Amino acid sequence: MDVSIFVETTFDDGEIRRRKIGRLRRAPDEFGSENVGLLLDDAKTLLRRLQEAIVQDQVSEALEVRRKCDSCAKQRAIHDDRGRILDTLFGRIRVKWPRLRRCLCQPAGIAKSGPQSPLAGLFSDRATPELRRLQAELGARHSFREAARLIEMFLPCSAQSNTTVRNRLGRIADELGHGDASQGHADTIAPPGPLTVFLDGAHIRCRPEYQKRHLDVVVGKVESQYEPAVWPRTTSRQFSCKAAPK
Ligand SMILES: [Zn+2]
Repeated sequence: MDVSIFVETTFDDGEIRRRKIGRLRRAPDEFGSENVGLLLDDAKTLLRRLQEAIVQDQVSEALEVRRKCDSCAKQRAIHDDRGRILDTLFGRIRVKWPRLRRCLCQPAGIAKSGPQSPLAGLFSDRATPELRRLQAELGARHSFREAARLIEMFLPCSAQSNTTVRNRLGRIADELGHGDASQGHADTIAPPGPLTVFLDGAHIRCRPEYQKRHLDVVVGKVESQYEPAVWPRTTSRQFSCKAAPK
């Protein structure tokens, strides 16, 4: 049998857009336990295409609304139509993200101040908050490498690395600190410290031919903006320690 999967978007103005995002083929003589229903690879491909269709439709509709000038209600002209990369939980998507010209009804200084991107500043790190939260949560619970592996195993997102997870976790922690202070708790919460500590770990299995013990290794890195005078002239320090052999 053949299964075709379509997405149909109905916009608020009544326009309907329909496109095919996938096709599955299941031959009757190949029926078996390994190909029943949707497989993980099929699901990841479909999810990525579905996400791409939804995000692009959502962005184009939001932009269309924002093209209308707040003062005179005329449509603003599109300056350029360059794409942007957006990382989501369900794939890295190249989104059409046009910049708009300022309306001529605006004072000369504003009208000549260059094109405007109505959706600029919405996404930190060019990633959706949902993806950033998952990276931070798994990065806090597992080693960065393991967190990257888990995300990549189940989701059709872009290739993950331990460095990406580590950096996202660090930035989110930093944002949380600043966010709390800006909400009026600055008197009860200490200001963000100048130190950033990254920890990672690994389990090393012995090789019977020349090792006798498994090892758990924890490694860390401390980065400091204000280096103590006694430290060498580096901006970061690295350390490692081995847990008790098992
Ligand atoms: Zn105008």
